[in-house]
Amino acid sequence: MYKQTCTNILSLSPVEVKKWLNSFDSVITDCDGVLWVYGNLISGSSDTINYLKKMGKSIYFCTNNSTKTRKELLVKGIELGFNITEDGIISTAHATAAYLKNRNFNKRVYVIGSEGIGKELDAVGIEHSGIGPDVMQGTLSTFMSQHLTLESNIGAVVVGFDEHFSFPKMTKAASYLSDPNCLFIATNTDERFPMPEMVVPGSGSFVNAIRTCAERKPTVIGKPNPAICQTLIKQNKIKPARTLMIGDRANTDILLGYNCGFQTLLVGSGIHNMTDVDQWKNSKDPEDKKLIPDVYLPKLGDLLPLILNSMTHGSY
Ligand SMILES: [Mg+2]
Repeated sequence: MYKQTCTNILSLSPVEVKKWLNSFDSVITDCDGVLWVYGNLISGSSDTINYLKKMGKSIYFCTNNSTKTRKELLVKGIELGFNITEDGIISTAHATAAYLKNRNFNKRVYVIGSEGIGKELDAVGIEHSGIGPDVMQGTLSTFMSQHLTLESNIGAVVVGFDEHFSFPKMTKAASYLSDPNCLFIATNTDERFPMPEMVVPGSGSFVNAIRTCAERKPTVIGKPNPAICQTLIKQNKIKPARTLMIGDRANTDILLGYNCGFQTLLVGSGIHNMTDVDQWKNSKDPEDKKLIPDVYLPKLGDLLPLILNSMTHGSY
């Protein structure tokens, strides 16, 4: 319905809104930039999600943010008023650990990332190192000759969001990756965080730095890789054509929807907005066309009044 037209839902009649709401049973929503920004609720988002759940839609949170475990995301979601369970959370830290576990990985992991990844690896019994500060000591030559030590038995380098990203970490990661048998895994490639007044580098910035010096391409676990939703589809928990993907970033969220055959809703409360969509509509690059969502709203909270209004036009 409204396939890749970027139709503004605010322009639909109550009957059309009702028809659209009846076209999906499951909702997969991004978190940062859709539900909250830097820990602060985006107004109306929890009421809207909880209402969709009350209507019988199954709700999944799907975040590329690798700094938190599923349990920590659950606590945060509940604190902000969302009616969710741990089963309903898909996170890259968890998915990365599951990816390694499913391959019967039995070596150590060098992590450029945060505690969230470490805790999820711990939970599946995979040993790791690298999390936390690793600052440059001395000059390049003293660092190389006296301070640089490489561990043996590293079988994978995982790169996610790391606020302690440094020259020594780059050197170690690229050195481990010079062994072609060492896996190179990126939790996600989001370029930056949705912040209104400054630029906060996202995991993709670190991934690309390692990718450049390692001269290798990573396996990307998070959105837009459809693998992140394959379990839900395989276990028949969602039907792609009757699933709505909600996101604020087109090259991860909307592209994931495109890749999985979901319906898509772009909200303008984070990274991308209507101006970006207009550019993709006018672009000659076929890749840009994949970023155009089916429907659009300035923010998710705008949906609740439309749902309530549409209810006066028959039951659901
Ligand atoms: Mg987002």
